[in-house]
Amino acid sequence: RFIALEGGEGVGKSTQVKALAAALRTRGHDVIETREPGGSEGAEAIRKLLLEGSADRWTPGAEALLFAAARADHVAKTIRPALEAGAWVVTDRFLDSSLAYQGGAGGISIGQLRQLHQVGSVGLLPDRTLLLTLPSEEAARRAEARDRGASDRIGGRDADYHLRVAEAFTLLATQEPDRFRLIDALGDAEIVTERLLAALEDL
Ligand code: C5P
Repeated sequence: RFIALEGGEGVGKSTQVKALAAALRTRGHDVIETREPGGSEGAEAIRKLLLEGSADRWTPGAEALLFAAARADHVAKTIRPALEAGAWVVTDRFLDSSLAYQGGAGGISIGQLRQLHQVGSVGLLPDRTLLLTLPSEEAARRAEARDRGASDRIGGRDADYHLRVAEAFTLLATQEPDRFRLIDALGDAEIVTERLLAALEDL
């Protein structure tokens, strides 16, 4: 099974990827934990290109292509082989992050981003996408705390950008209710993990 955790900055995705993978292992599954951009040698190299340097290093179009290229390598080298071997794959971000960040917030058309995903990754989609959500004020507070002082290209994105990301994620979730589950990310980490597991019960 292929599971993606999605959401904006500061919702606790990386903590929850670890916790969810551990919980699935105690249930007897083989589990691969991975992340995007990254998750394979080539994709980690692209991650460096994306996250280092100034905010205007890449045009929005070049950024979208780099994310799609990183995902293509990640899918081919890490995700597909693991799924074919019968493992569960839990990834920190996937296509929907590109649709929300490069699309909803960045202005690239969602249709074009889906086409890039088709070219690079044969359109592979998660069996379930768990969207971690926080009230917008709390999300803004955490994003600001994280961005403050950040000199990389991701730091310095304004509150409006993060709001557009959150809105885009919500819209994507309503468009594909079978694949998405909205998960309340407020509360103790253990409780959030329980919510994630409950949202995978049918799988
Ligand atoms: O998952 P994490 O928050 O560590 O992602 C690293 C950075 O890359 C984030 O700040 C996020 O805003 C950015 N990102 C992006 N577009 C994506 C995926 C991540 O701008 N498709």
